[in-house]
Amino acid sequence: MRNLINRLDAIRHPFPGIQVLGLISSALFITSLILWPAVGETGDQSDQTMPIPALAKTLETNQKLAPQAEPFVIRAERVQAGDSLSRLFIRQHLKPQLLHALTQAEQSNRRISRLNVGQTIEFRYSGETLVELAVIQSPFQQTVATHAEGGWSIEQRQRDPEIYIEHAHTTIDSSLFIAGARAGLPDKVIMELADIYGHVIDFVHEIRKGDQFTVIFEKHYLDGEFIEYGNILATEFVNSGESFLAVRYTDGQGDTGYYDEKGVSLRKAFLRAPLNFRRISSNFSHSRKHPVTGVPRPHRGTDYAAPTGTPVYASGDGKIVHRGAKGGYGKTVVMKHGTTVTTLYAHLSRYGKFRIGQQVKQGETIGYVGSTGLSTGPHLHYEFIFNGVHRNPRTILDKLPKAKTLPQTEIKRFEHLAELLIASLNAQRNNAELAFQTINTPE
Ligand SMILES: [Zn+2]
Repeated sequence: MRNLINRLDAIRHPFPGIQVLGLISSALFITSLILWPAVGETGDQSDQTMPIPALAKTLETNQKLAPQAEPFVIRAERVQAGDSLSRLFIRQHLKPQLLHALTQAEQSNRRISRLNVGQTIEFRYSGETLVELAVIQSPFQQTVATHAEGGWSIEQRQRDPEIYIEHAHTTIDSSLFIAGARAGLPDKVIMELADIYGHVIDFVHEIRKGDQFTVIFEKHYLDGEFIEYGNILATEFVNSGESFLAVRYTDGQGDTGYYDEKGVSLRKAFLRAPLNFRRISSNFSHSRKHPVTGVPRPHRGTDYAAPTGTPVYASGDGKIVHRGAKGGYGKTVVMKHGTTVTTLYAHLSRYGKFRIGQQVKQGETIGYVGSTGLSTGPHLHYEFIFNGVHRNPRTILDKLPKAKTLPQTEIKRFEHLAELLIASLNAQRNNAELAFQTINTPE
């Protein structure tokens, strides 16, 4: 409860660029998520909190605030290559005996003398006396050595971010990133969105003008200052009129994933685009002309234009059955996934470390984009073959190996969380559409 109060308390901090009203509703939103009684729950349900990612962590971790009361004079050092603590002590004109006493206080789990290049070390003085030495690991984590009468003591100090929940809704005109930017979303959140849907939507070929997405995500603050974007809690992507919901959920085992409204994981047996979306131009491209002859032809695969050397991933778990030149395909890898699915990756510049006969996991690199064989420019030619026929895996998802579904023991808690988040997504989308209509309706 104390964390909740902290969070509500933090509303009074000035947050540049964010509406306070939004913050209040966000804080209430979190409160409602935590305190809301589960629908249809029986009395023997003992869970007091729901495992909302990050929130649960926040509730569990004992918040230990850095003592801000003492007005330290801080002289910060940035660790350069070749620096050691003794060098920093010399730069600070401190006595070597002080350092010796400090290293004596070190224990295996509380070390301070092992520095990394780029780290910030704060020397905190009271007048001319060094009272604290802090190794700053992150805005949320520091190792602090405190000097008192009895010598040095070393401790880890951890701070939890103040978490605020924000919404965004946008419609795609030309590219996912432009739409995201218009909604005030950084690329990091967009990439995460693409990762969440990486098994159901091909973000290179299937994104259409008019597609929409709504997203609920965290922002992390410390003392009223924005530090970083947190997790996406829930999102809806409407692609060619088809809605895909994703709710972030951490199960009793501590595994976190994204699930649809029925509790089915969005991680499917196959990736839609077998390479890193970040490396591909996000422009729409639906060319079906043969890259060499220029003649449109029935194309039995998908082409992804990408820079030479872009890693190509195994789209699913499986075995390498071919690795070598294959006529117009150039350097090619073929994989077998069980008895029904074969995938093919062509025009590679070179192969990954896996050889014929080896088992490979989904997402492992089996080759690199190139332009070998009948190809005018670097691209990946990818084929997905189901029972001997080229298919779009999106249309035969029910025939492919089933994705993980939350077990009965989890489903109630999941549905309770999903219901709230989906209601919030819907409200956000409806508000956005209402605002759009209001703006665009002539009086
Ligand atoms: Zn092709």
